[in-house]
Parts: sequence; structure tokens; C-alpha cells
Amino acid sequence: MEIRKIAVLGAGLMGHGICQVAAQNGGYEVNLRDVEQRFLDNGMAMIKGSLQKFQSKGKLTEEQVAGILNRIHPVLDLKKAVSEADLIIEAIPENVELKNATFKEVDKSAPSHTIIASNTSSISITELGSATNRSEKVCGMHFFNPPQLMKLVEVIKGAKTSEETIKTVLDVAHIMGKETVLVKKDCPGFIVNRILIPALNEAAALHWEGIADRDDIDKAIKLGLNWPMGPLMLTDYIGSDTVLAITDVLTKGIDPKFHPTPGLKQMVKAKLLGRKTGKGYYDWTKK
Ligand code: NAD
Repeated sequence: MEIRKIAVLGAGLMGHGICQVAAQNGGYEVNLRDVEQRFLDNGMAMIKGSLQKFQSKGKLTEEQVAGILNRIHPVLDLKKAVSEADLIIEAIPENVELKNATFKEVDKSAPSHTIIASNTSSISITELGSATNRSEKVCGMHFFNPPQLMKLVEVIKGAKTSEETIKTVLDVAHIMGKETVLVKKDCPGFIVNRILIPALNEAAALHWEGIADRDDIDKAIKLGLNWPMGPLMLTDYIGSDTVLAITDVLTKGIDPKFHPTPGLKQMVKAKLLGRKTGKGYYDWTKK
């Protein structure tokens, strides 16, 4: 199936980046939808800031930036956002009730041929499919942070997702300049988070138990495993609330061994969520 128009739901950390990649690399017309004008404004400001960085590095011309921005349409009304879309990419908060309700609503407003993909980090694609009357057209399309720079997209097959849907979404990801992996069974955490999140949780435990200092935990993993940044800094980038939410899903969906450590829970209780609140393991207000 040919995809011409895309709608991205959620103009937050991930949604703005996915929207930009779709318009910038894929050349798609994209509607960007959020629930309040200030969230849309914030998302558009992040897109403009990112495009300016590409331009200042000589990777985009002024005309190209203008063209990309022309293809992006911020929209508040859900029906208007999705009514002409061939592909909808949902990037709203990681909350199963909210996502189920949104999928139900989107199913009513979108054309019958439209594919609905979720950028969820851990929620069941099969369950999201069941919230609609088109489970064969629902799949996971999991980008990584920041979507503008990270190469990988995990494409996830729900229990009823059709081969045609998977093929179309793989094609779109490739047109957006991404590398893909196929997750053949819908299992919490997919591939990357099933391996990453327990590692971040253990880093939080080492810090909480006072076994090593923040900088030594991050240095150990950077130099010992060749990660580009340490696990505590990465937790700050992702948001400790998001990390906690994923440990909960892994615990409930796979095995109690994935349970969140007290250190991780404490960060969330203290609202030390990382970059988004200005403070986490690191102080981001000065950077
Ligand atoms: P975020 O909180 O930064 O952004 C979510 C946005 O969705 C907010 O602007 C919010 O106002 C908006 N929103 C809420 N309800 C909405 C609705 N009904 N319609 C449209 N917009 C709505 O969250 P995020 O970090 O961008 O995460 C979004 C999704 O991406 C989650 O499922 C998360 O698990 C996943 N994800 C996050 C990361 C990450 O590193 N943060 C990486 C990969 C995937």
C-alpha cells in the first residue's frame, strides 16, 4: 500500500522527532496532533530548533528547511488530523488506558484503509489492536530517542497484524532512512528494551545501594561496554518515569524478576525525572 499522508499523535519528546523525520527524510505530508495548543507550539519549536542545527552543520539548506516545515501541519482536532491519513503513528504518553481510548477514537475517525502504528515502548500491540475494528492494520513502530538521529525502528507484529501492514510499515521506515528489525511476536519490551531496561534498573540499584558513585557507574559502562553514554545519563534522557513504567510492564507481562528497584521508584517520587524536569541523576538546568 502506498503511504502519502501521515498523522503523528503527540508532539512530545518522541512525536515531534518522528514528525520531523517523516517530513524531512521521507518527504511526507504530516499532521502533528496534540491536545493543547501550547504542546503543539512546543513540539514545533523543537522541530525548528533541530532543523536549524542541521542547517548550521550544512546538512540542510534554508530552502530545504522551509520545505520541510511546509509539509508539517500542527492540528488540534483529532478528526481533522487523521481523516486523510494513510498511516497514523501514535506517540502519546505510555499509559494503557489512554492509548486504548485513543485507538478506539482514532479507529472511528480514520479511513478504513489507514494503518495505525504505535510508538509504545512496552504496551501490547495486540491489546491496542483489539481496541479497534482493524487489528490487522495495527502494529508497533518503535523509534528511538532522538528519532532524528537514531537509526533503528523496531516493527512489531501483533497477534492479528497482517503481513501487508508489516511490509508497508517496514517500507515507510526505510523511506524515512531508518534500519529496521522485525519483532515477530508481540512481547513486552520487544528486543531493545527487554535488554536495556533491566540494565538501567540495575544501574539505579547500584547508585541507590551506594556501591559506586554516579560518575563511576556511568564511566564503567561507557569504557567497559563501549556505550556512548552511561546508564544513569541515559535514564535522564529517557525519563526515570518512563523507565519505571517499562519495568512495571516487563514485571507484569513476563517475569517478576524485572521488578523496579527502590532507587528507581525514589527518583520518580522525587520528580527527578531527568532532562524533562531539569534534574535527575544530573543537573540539566545548566546545560
Ligand atoms: P511525552 O510525554 O514527551 O509526549 C507525549 C505527548 O502526547 C504530550 O505532548 C501530550 O500532551 C500528548 N498527548 C496526550 N494525550 C494525547 C492525545 N490523546 N492525542 C495527542 N497527543 C496527546 O512522551 P514521549 O517520551 O514522547 O513518549 C511517547 C511515547 O513514545 C510513549 O509511548 C513512550 O513509551 C514512547 N517512547 C518513548 C521514548 C523516550 O525515550 N522517551 C523512546 C521510544 C518510545
